[in-house]
Amino acid sequence: MVNWTQMHDCYGDVDRVPALLEQVELEDDAEAWKELGYRLVLEHDLVFPAGFAALPRLMCLASRSARARGLAGTILRRAAGHHGCDDLLANCAEEISEFRRLLDRHLQSRPADYLAAFLASLAAMEEYHRSAVLGDFTDDFYHLVCPNCAVEVTIAIGDYGCYSAIRDWNKGDVDRRDLRPTPSEALSGTGRWMYETAVRDGHEALADGIALLFGKAECPACASVFDVANEYTSANRPVLR
Ligand SMILES: [Zn+2]
Repeated sequence: MVNWTQMHDCYGDVDRVPALLEQVELEDDAEAWKELGYRLVLEHDLVFPAGFAALPRLMCLASRSARARGLAGTILRRAAGHHGCDDLLANCAEEISEFRRLLDRHLQSRPADYLAAFLASLAAMEEYHRSAVLGDFTDDFYHLVCPNCAVEVTIAIGDYGCYSAIRDWNKGDVDRRDLRPTPSEALSGTGRWMYETAVRDGHEALADGIALLFGKAECPACASVFDVANEYTSANRPVLR
C-alpha cells in the first residue's frame, strides 16, 4: 500500500492526488484528469513522488482510459534521473510489463498519438535516453561532438535532408555529408525493435529515421566516420540511479 502522507505533488499537497485517482477510477472525468495532470507532471523533466505513487493505478486504468494511458506514459518517460522514487518504480515492475503489452496493442491500432505511445513503450523498456530524444524525424537536429577531432557536428534527419554538417550561424549547415543508414538486417537490440515496430505499424518515415539514427555519419572536418546513436547516447546519458 502506498503511504500517501509522504507522497507530495508539485504543490506540496498529499491529499488531492489520492482523491482525484478515486474520482477518475469511478468515472472518466475531464476536470479531474486535468488537475491530476498538472499536479503530477510539470514541464521539463519534473515528476513528483505522487506521480510515481499514482503510476500503478494509472497503468491499470490505461486499458479503458486514453487519458490514463497518456499520463502514465508521460510519467514513465521521466523516470530516469534523480527523483528518489526508485522503490516505487521497482514495486510496479509487473504493472509496467502489462502496460508495455497494452501500448504494443495500441501501437498496432495505428493511433493518432503514435509517437507518444512509441516513446512510452521505450520508457517501459527502460530505454529512457532514446525515449527522451527521439522525435518524429520531420525536422530533427542533433548536435554531437566528433569523437576524433572534437568539432561540433550537426546531424539533420528530416524534411530538410539527412546529413552531417558544420553549423554556421550565418550560412546555415555547410559542408554537408550524407548520413549512412544501417541496413535493417544489421540493426540489433533496441534499434531493431524500434525499426521493426515502426515498419509493422506502417510508419515508414519513422523507420527510415531510426535506420539513420542508428547509422553512421562522417565528420565534415576530419572525415572520420562515427555511430550517430552511440555518440548521442554518450553525450546525453541521463544521470541514472
Ligand atoms: Zn572530426
